[in-house]
Amino acid sequence: MTQGRPLLNRRLDGFGTTIFAEMSALAVRTGSINLGQGFPDTDGPEEVREAAVRALREGKGNQYPPGPGVPELRTAIADHQRRFHGLAVDPDTEVLVTAGATEAIAAAMLALLEPGDEVIAFEPFYDSYAACIAMAGAQRVPLTLRAPAFRPDLDELRSKITPRTRLLLLNTPHNPTGTVLTREELTAIAELAVAHDLLVVTDEVYEHLVFEGEHIPMASLPGMRERTVTISSAGKSFSYTGWKVGWVTAPAPLVTAVRTAKQYLTYVSAGPFQYAIAEALRLPDTYFDTFRADLRRKRDLLADGLRAAGFEVHRPQGTYFITTDISPFGETDALAFCRALPERHGVVAVPNSVFYDDPEAGRSLVRFTFCKRDEVLREAVGRLRRAAS
Ligand code: PMP
Ligand code: GLN
Repeated sequence: MTQGRPLLNRRLDGFGTTIFAEMSALAVRTGSINLGQGFPDTDGPEEVREAAVRALREGKGNQYPPGPGVPELRTAIADHQRRFHGLAVDPDTEVLVTAGATEAIAAAMLALLEPGDEVIAFEPFYDSYAACIAMAGAQRVPLTLRAPAFRPDLDELRSKITPRTRLLLLNTPHNPTGTVLTREELTAIAELAVAHDLLVVTDEVYEHLVFEGEHIPMASLPGMRERTVTISSAGKSFSYTGWKVGWVTAPAPLVTAVRTAKQYLTYVSAGPFQYAIAEALRLPDTYFDTFRADLRRKRDLLADGLRAAGFEVHRPQGTYFITTDISPFGETDALAFCRALPERHGVVAVPNSVFYDDPEAGRSLVRFTFCKRDEVLREAVGRLRRAAS
C-alpha cells in the first residue's frame, strides 16, 4: 500500500496468480504428476528444434526482427491458412506475429475495445480472456456452455446482444470443455455478428487437435472474413509451448489496429523461433495426421482410465483436455479438490470452476490434460484408481 491505496489496478482485482501457475507450482512442490497446465512432456519435431538452433547460429533473428514478424513466417502462416482452410491471406498486410496467442488476445482486446464495451464469450472462459477484457476496461458477458453437452445456446446468445456489445470472443476447439463448434452453430453465430455489426475474435489455437467433427475457421463463413480476427499459435500444433510464437490473421485494418497495441506490449516477438516455426508450418500432412491420431489415442487412454477411477467423464471433441465431474465421489468443490489432490493422490488437475462467473455452473468440474507420455497417463490413472477403491 502507498498513500493508503492498493497497488494493483482495480481492473485486475481478483485476478491474482493464474490457476495454471498455482497448480504447476503445486505439482513441483509435491512431486506430483502434472495433468493440470496444458503443456506436452515431449518436445515437438526434432527438425523444428534444429531449425531454431540453425537460426540462432546463423544470426537470423538475433536482433530485433520486423514488428509484424519475419517475412518467412508471415508467408508460411498465409500458406498454412490456404493449405488447411482455403483462406487467402496477404502475408504483408493481413498477418501479425505475436508472443504466443496470449499476446494476440491481449493486443486484440486492448486495440478493439473502448471502456464500457461488452464482449460476449463462452463460459468457462480461458483465463486470460477475462483479464484482458478487464484490462481494456470492458465488460465480459458470459454465454455458458452447460454440461453434459457444452453446446452454446444460440437463443441465449441472441438475448445477450445489446447496443453496447462490441465483439464476440470465440474459442473453437474450446478450452476447457473440448467442444468443437459445428458449421450450423458457427453459421448461426456469424449471422448474428453480421446482423448486429459485431467484430469476432476467434481463438483457434487447437485448430489441429480435432478428434470428432472438423475445425471450421469462423473467417471462412460468408460475411465473416471482413469482421474476424483469427488467433492461433505454434505452441499447441508443434509442441513447443515455451517458444511463445503466435499469430493473428485478419483484414488489414484489423491487423493494423492489433499491431498498434502489440507494438507497445512487446514491440516485436523473439526472432530465431519465428524462422523455425516457418519451417514447422510447412511440415507434411503426415506430421499433422500422426500428431492428431496420437493425441486421440491418449484422450481415450485417459478418458477410459478416469472413468474406471470413478470420475464422470465428458469426452472432448478437440483440444488436449478432458473435463470430468467429481460429484460421483461426493465432492462438490473443484478448487478444494484440486488443491488437495496432489497430497492425496500425487496428481495435479485444474478446477474448471475458476473459469466461470457463475459459481454453480462449474462447481464440480475438473480438467485433466492428456498431452503426456502414455506411461505418465497410465501411472496417473493408476494412482487415481487406487485412491478411489
Ligand atoms: N488460448 C487458449 C484457448 C489456450 O488454451 C492457450 C494456452 N495454451 C492460449 C490461448 C495461449 O497460447 P500461447 O501459449 O500461444 O500464448
Ligand atoms: N493454455 C494452457 C492451459 O490451458 C496454459 C497456458 C498458461 O499457463 N497460460 O493449460
